[in-house]
Amino acid sequence: MLALVVLPMVCAASPAADAPDSAASASFTADGRNTFEQLTSRYESLSSEHGWQMETVYAYPGTDGLAIRAWRTPRRGEATWILAGIHGEEPAGPNAIAAQLASIIELAASGVPVVVIPLCNPKAYRSNWRYPNTPERDWHKGGYSVGDAEYLLPDLATGAQPRAAAAPGPDTQALTQFVLQLAASYPPQLVLDLHEDELSTEGGYIYSQGRRAADNPVGAEVIRLLQSSGIPIRESGRTRFGEPIVGGVISRDDQGQPLRDGSIDELLASKEVFRNGAKIQGPAARTVIVVETPAFAGSKFDLRVAAQSAVIEQVQELWRLNSAIR
Ligand SMILES: [Zn+2]
Repeated sequence: MLALVVLPMVCAASPAADAPDSAASASFTADGRNTFEQLTSRYESLSSEHGWQMETVYAYPGTDGLAIRAWRTPRRGEATWILAGIHGEEPAGPNAIAAQLASIIELAASGVPVVVIPLCNPKAYRSNWRYPNTPERDWHKGGYSVGDAEYLLPDLATGAQPRAAAAPGPDTQALTQFVLQLAASYPPQLVLDLHEDELSTEGGYIYSQGRRAADNPVGAEVIRLLQSSGIPIRESGRTRFGEPIVGGVISRDDQGQPLRDGSIDELLASKEVFRNGAKIQGPAARTVIVVETPAFAGSKFDLRVAAQSAVIEQVQELWRLNSAIR
């Protein structure tokens, strides 16, 4: 009887039948996100059609091509950096970048060097995990961030030694080292790091770091853009970490001190970092803005992408505002 089953005809036509493992067919797309492969083919137009340089930051062993990739303009110098997808369950940023490549290309065409790392955590993105190493969203349960830069940042008590002994994972090590190295030839002036917050039901907000963390005109414009796209903004109160929110902007920690969360954003804003045990000058970005759109269950993916897109679409204006900050 089994010989009469006609399904093999169908299977032969399915690309999944030839997949080396089940990972590719397991791509999470239920919220409307593009797959890793779809996003990558969009980003690749930067290198294939516009002459940007593409680099593989980290290739995941034993996968069918899963990798963290970066694109940068041939022109070096003071740069705009755009990061997204540090957390895999926050898909709006990577999808917004894919949708707004034209605005980024336009910024580069105006002479501004640009670095884009659009999907920093492809492994978690593909499974809708937060961290690359576990489905657990709660970091207390063993997850580590690909953007954890504590081993490169001064400790909180004395500043005399690194905050952590080592990077928590090989992808984290590769990404943070890559960023630190590239920051020397593409000094970050404006950094946009696109995140989402699935626990925020009240609205969007931003983290602001750099030379003018509070009252930054770039931050104010990002808030205005989010708002005009239809995203409500958390005007006041505190985050679940106790950080005060002022007009949608978080620029201080729960103690009123500068933000020091050990993230890749702090790394890019930091004036001092550690390399091989020695303290050296850090990237010291003028402005680092982390955009957080509310991604609670039932929120609309398309609206979140539209909100992040509204920010990227205005990257040239954000660069102009940032250049005026002294
Ligand atoms: Zn995040």
